Amino acid sequence: MSRNTTEHKGLRLHTLNIPMLLISSIVLIFLVYVTYVSLTNFTEMQEVTERYIDAQQDASSMLAASDYLTAQTLNFAVNADKSHVDKYFHEAFKTKRRERSVEEMERLFPNNRAFLKLQSALAHSNELMQREFHAMRLVIEAVKYPTDSFPQALRDYHLSPEEIALPPAEQRRLAQRLVFGTDYQMYKDWIRAGISQCLALLEEETKEQMLKPQALLNNLIRYQYILIATLVVVMLVFIASTSLLVVKPLKQGTNSMLKQETMPEVGVYELQSFAKTYNDLFLQNQDLKSKLAYKADHDALTGLLNRGAFERMRIQGEKRKTALILMDIDKFKEINDANGHDVGDKVLQKVSRFLLQSFRAEDHVFRLGGDEFAVIMIYADSSMRGVVEQKILLCNKQLSTPKDGLPPASLSVGVAFSDRQNPSGDIYKDADTALYSVKQRGRNGIAFYGDDQT
Ligand code: GH3
Ligand code: MG
Repeated sequence: MSRNTTEHKGLRLHTLNIPMLLISSIVLIFLVYVTYVSLTNFTEMQEVTERYIDAQQDASSMLAASDYLTAQTLNFAVNADKSHVDKYFHEAFKTKRRERSVEEMERLFPNNRAFLKLQSALAHSNELMQREFHAMRLVIEAVKYPTDSFPQALRDYHLSPEEIALPPAEQRRLAQRLVFGTDYQMYKDWIRAGISQCLALLEEETKEQMLKPQALLNNLIRYQYILIATLVVVMLVFIASTSLLVVKPLKQGTNSMLKQETMPEVGVYELQSFAKTYNDLFLQNQDLKSKLAYKADHDALTGLLNRGAFERMRIQGEKRKTALILMDIDKFKEINDANGHDVGDKVLQKVSRFLLQSFRAEDHVFRLGGDEFAVIMIYADSSMRGVVEQKILLCNKQLSTPKDGLPPASLSVGVAFSDRQNPSGDIYKDADTALYSVKQRGRNGIAFYGDDQT
């Protein structure tokens, strides 16, 4: 019953899993690597951007500081308020935004043209300071401020004797001309031009620095898309193959088990193998069950239905139109004694064959035990009496004139129909009564319950 299990052709579970795991792992490693490189690249871009913003702020700080110095000078030239000089010197020599911005720019963009431009703006601003000192010195002279209350740089600035000789109003006018005039504006324009060139160079430089990492980042993002798409495809293939080759066969197998059927041998090799083993055991079990059921219902010697089957069928058939025919071999003990038990067995088998041949396929033939037989004819009533009689007579004729070397034999037969006259209540008892009457009359014959003689 067991079948050859080497014929399985299914995909093995590890053949399905290992490539999927390998591909997923490789793709994941690449994905992690690409993400790491992307992040590093992104950080680099961030640094370049931050450097640009810082440098831009430095350039703006230079302009703001220069404008602040201008504003303080202009204010002092106009209203001679000493606080403007203090603010000016505080910015120029304490806060020193201009120098700091140049230092910062040098740190951020060393040896860069942007740095040089800012440096030149500072140089122009410093040159302008001399003019501003000049203007402030003239105002101090005009207002007659005590010079020792001013910073050393201003005290060190000396006016020409002609300028000192000028009346105060003239001195102030000259001071204002120095800081409001076109020469002053020209310097301011140079400073602004230096700063805006510095900014333009910064922008250009930053754009250049961004080009490579930007292109790399674009490529990395493309790789990430491809890797993620590959991962999704691998996952989908894995899910689809698992549900097709594992989950579905398992469900089918479970259903088959519940329905007590063989299960389809599908899916991965291991499940096919499991299904084949299960099916082998299931079929062996079925076979055993049907053999046991057959054994429980049949007589081993003749293969006819046995008494147990007879009792069950008698109860079921009680309400239907039936004929019960009981038979007993005449003087069977003598046949046994004269020819041996084996020959007796052969006679029993021959009687069984004759009975099976004589009755319809839908009729049931039983060996009740020993030399007793029975036939239950279904859908049969007393109108079939003649047919039954013919069958039995033919049987007895063949049994009593054997051509097979076996000893002659005959049957005594009692019949009771379900529609018999004067039933005693039990069809078996009535058929037995009829059989008894045949034995009484000398055997080898048939009697129907209800006839006068029974
Ligand atoms: P009667 O005509 O009154 O029926 O006489 P008989 O000799 O046939 O008597 P009975 O029916 O009581 O005898 C049945 C005999 O059948 C008794 C037994 O030795 C024999 N027998 C029972 N079972 C078997 C069997 O399986 N094989 C053989 N060869 N003989 C059996
Ligand atoms: Mg007998």
